[in-house]
Amino acid sequence: MFLWWGPQLIQFYNDAYRPSLGNNGKHPEALGQRGEDCWPEIWPIIKPLIDQVLDKGEPTWSVDQLIPIYRNGKIEDVYWTFGYSPVYDEDGQRMGVIVICSETTEHVNNSKKLNESYRALQISEDNLLNLVMQAPTAIGHLKGRELVVVAANQKMLELWGKDTFIIGIPLKDALPELQDQPYLGILDDVYTSGIPFFGTEHMALIQRGGVLLELYFDFVYQPIKDANGNCTGIVIVANEVTDNVLARKRIQQSEDRLRQVVMKSPFIMLVLKGSDFIIEIANEACYQYWNKTAEATLGKPLLTVLPELKDQPFPALLQRVLESGEAFGEEEVPNYFETEEGIVTKYVSYLYEPILDEDGSVSRILVAAEDRTRMVEGRKRLLAAEENLRLSLEAAELGRFDMDLVKGTMFWDARCRELFGIDHNDEVSYENDFLTGLHPEDKERVIKVIDDVFVKELTNGDYDVEYRTIGANDKKMRWVRAKGKAFFDENDKAVRFIGSVLEITDKKSEELRRNDFFAMASHELKTPLTSIKSYVQMLLKKATKDEDDFQADALNRVNKNVNKMTSLIQGFLNNAKILEGKFELHFENIDVNEMLTEALVDAQLISQAHQINLAPCKNVMIRADRDKLIQVMENLVSNAVKYSPKGGAINIGCDVTGNIAEIYVQDEGVGISEKDQQKLFDRFYRVRNEKVQHISGFGIGLYLVSEILRYHNSKIMVESEEGKGSRFYFRLPVVN
Ligand code: ADP
Repeated sequence: MFLWWGPQLIQFYNDAYRPSLGNNGKHPEALGQRGEDCWPEIWPIIKPLIDQVLDKGEPTWSVDQLIPIYRNGKIEDVYWTFGYSPVYDEDGQRMGVIVICSETTEHVNNSKKLNESYRALQISEDNLLNLVMQAPTAIGHLKGRELVVVAANQKMLELWGKDTFIIGIPLKDALPELQDQPYLGILDDVYTSGIPFFGTEHMALIQRGGVLLELYFDFVYQPIKDANGNCTGIVIVANEVTDNVLARKRIQQSEDRLRQVVMKSPFIMLVLKGSDFIIEIANEACYQYWNKTAEATLGKPLLTVLPELKDQPFPALLQRVLESGEAFGEEEVPNYFETEEGIVTKYVSYLYEPILDEDGSVSRILVAAEDRTRMVEGRKRLLAAEENLRLSLEAAELGRFDMDLVKGTMFWDARCRELFGIDHNDEVSYENDFLTGLHPEDKERVIKVIDDVFVKELTNGDYDVEYRTIGANDKKMRWVRAKGKAFFDENDKAVRFIGSVLEITDKKSEELRRNDFFAMASHELKTPLTSIKSYVQMLLKKATKDEDDFQADALNRVNKNVNKMTSLIQGFLNNAKILEGKFELHFENIDVNEMLTEALVDAQLISQAHQINLAPCKNVMIRADRDKLIQVMENLVSNAVKYSPKGGAINIGCDVTGNIAEIYVQDEGVGISEKDQQKLFDRFYRVRNEKVQHISGFGIGLYLVSEILRYHNSKIMVESEEGKGSRFYFRLPVVN
């Protein structure tokens, strides 16, 4: 409390006011001092207030007013809350002013500081919010157990694929797609436990723009606690790492694919890394090729595993691929390996394919290779075998022909050309060279044979014919024997025809000479034999009439032998006719059963030692030359008897399949070796072994059989086993 009194405003103050004057200040001079003298520094401020109170009697009240005063050796800013009130003397005149005051400097300073720090706080909070809102990391604040989204920065909204409308909504409603995912559960646990949760590359399904996307995040759920340590909310800080994860997955996938391709490949495959060519991946085929195990190979430099490669071109070629990034490959190159047995050469076809890294550089090479050793060596052997074959063909003076019936081309080797009297090396054709080169008398027959060769069911593609050629240039006549085989496609269409041709001019001339002799002799024998036969028959009739059994029996034997001779002579004559090309057929319908019965009767006449059976085949008609076919049967049956010296059964019969009749003669005789079966039907061919050496013959019977059947577009075939017997058969179409 403070008092100014009297016209000079003399001052008084109590002890409570004393501290406000400070140390080394106005106290104690101020006590009883004139106001103006005491407060020169503030007199202009307070004098009007004093005057106002003295003049008008109106009290004043000021709160936290700054009134600097001199104290503590300096002018200090001092704040006051004070009231000025008039003080009256005993006459009721206003004579003084009482000041009730309290210093509020500390309070004002405190609240000033408070204000300042509040303002500062506000500024930094704004900054923080700005920072948070613009942060490149997604940040969101969830409050309460309901996890209401109270704040989410732009990044977080983008990450969630949502708009600001989710602010104020519980997270489970804001992002309904989280319903079946683990995250709401984890958040709840964080809220309950107060322990933060860190997630790395977690996958979450998030709906963005109406599409549910599989996205990957690194994130932290940080619980927010109050002063008592209770959880009030959770701050989510998240970073989307989908691109990284997917890129890594893509790399991983392509790595996996590469590994799979390598591992599953039937070819040799491996991946080499860096300039040391570390074997990163290799497959089974590779280990086999190297004769190494995976343990001895994987993760090691190529040249450590196979030091012998150092002196081979492969390391330099690999280096080139690594540096240039360009693939490189070679076919069937030799590749040497050191083994316990010494140096082994293998042949390999390979490709070095650079593998591009993410950044387009090349640090790895994919090697794909095929072991061609067997092929190369096989080819070498084949070449050697072909060379041998060529040499032996040359030695045997065999000509070789090869017709491609699809392309219509024909190949003849030098010998073949020689046999057709051709002296050029130009292309040859079937029409211009083969047909033109045939002897006019053989042409029709040979064309027919070749036509038949191309019909699989008739000949099975087998070709064997003799004909004459007239040399294109030298006009020389040559006899040749051609043998070959036609090959058929899946529709039994002939596509290729290969074979060889052998000159038989000398053999043929010899044969012709022999044949001429047989023909002449046979012809000469025919007339006396006919006369002998008629005399024998006359004598036989007489002996029968005279009941002279001895004579009848003897004459019967003579007759049988005459018949045998007649048929032999008939055979020679036929043979000659075939050779001269004068063989004619007279076709008629024949009842097979009748024909076979005739053969049976003939056979029974020849031999009583054999049991001859006929399997009846009723109503089978074929079209053939009767006499010639009977001759075929006679030959087959007589051979069956002749070559079964110990007797046994002879079965004659006919099996019908579809419209084909198969007629057979089967015996239990000596049989024929496979080797002899090949040549059985050649003219004058006879088997030579101890079992048949005492059985006489000329070797033309089966030749005639095969020729007669050939004229019938058929073929004689044989199945036989030595010591067990033989079955000769041929097929002819059935006529209705
Ligand atoms: P051949 O006049 O020698 O009997 P073929 O041409 O009839 O002449 O027969 C040729 C050869 O075939 C005979 O030498 C014989 O060795 C053999 N052969 C023929 N038929 C039979 C058969 N049924 N069993 C065993 N060998 C046979």
